[in-house]
Amino acid sequence: MAINREVYLVLQDECDKAGVTLVAVSKTKPVEDIMALYEMGHRDFGESYVQELTTKWEALPKDIRWHFIGHLQSNKVKYLASFVHLVHGVDSEKLLREIDKQAAKNNRIIHCLLQVHIAREETKFGLDDAELKALLTNSVSFSNIKICGLMGMASFSDDMMVVRNELKHLKTLFDNHTSLSTANSQLSILSMGMSADYKIAMEEGSTMIRVGSLLFGER
Ligand SMILES: *Cc1c(COP(=O)(O)O)cnc(C)c1O
Repeated sequence: MAINREVYLVLQDECDKAGVTLVAVSKTKPVEDIMALYEMGHRDFGESYVQELTTKWEALPKDIRWHFIGHLQSNKVKYLASFVHLVHGVDSEKLLREIDKQAAKNNRIIHCLLQVHIAREETKFGLDDAELKALLTNSVSFSNIKICGLMGMASFSDDMMVVRNELKHLKTLFDNHTSLSTANSQLSILSMGMSADYKIAMEEGSTMIRVGSLLFGER
C-alpha cells in the first residue's frame, strides 16, 4: 500500500497556511508507510491501539511525535507513558489520575486533550458540558499532566449541516473555556476534523486535524 504523496503535500500546505497541525493517523498501516511520510518531513502520527503504538514506537525514529487518539484504558497508560506526545481522548477523572501517576513515575508531564461528546451516536466516547467543566476544575490536583485543549468527533453523517453544527458546538465550548486557565490547564489546541470533515473543521476553527484514510488509503 503506497501513501498518497500528492494529497499529503496539498494537505500539509493547507495546514501550514492556516496554522493547523496535521496528525497523520497511521493505525493499522505498516511502518513502511509511516517511514515514507517521515522521509517527506512529517513527524506527527496518530495511533488508536496501545499495543500497535508501542510496537511502532520501538521500531521507528525517536523524533516522531506520537499522538494517542483512541479510547485509552487506565490499565494501559503505563505502556505509553514514557514517550507519548499528546493523549487526545481523555474522558474521565479516573483516566486523568492514572496518566498523572504514570507521568510522575516517568518524571515528565504528559499533555492531554479532553474528549467532548458532540455526536448524535450514543456509542461515541466523551464528556458532556457539565462533566467537562468538572474535570477542568478537578484537574488542578494533578501536577504531572497538562490539559492543552479539547478533542471531538462529529457524527458519521452525510448531512454536512449536522456535522458542521456539531463542530461549531465544540468550538463554542472551547472558546468558553479558553479563559479558564489554571496551573496545569490552558486550552490552546482544538483537535477536530478527519478525512471526511477536515475542511469543515478548519473552517470552524480547528487547530489540529487527524487524517488517516486520505493519506494512507482505506483501512
Ligand atoms: C481513525 C481515526 C481518525 C482518522 O480517520 P480517517 O477517516 O481515516 O481520516 C481520526 N480520529 C480518530 C479518533 C480516529 O479513531
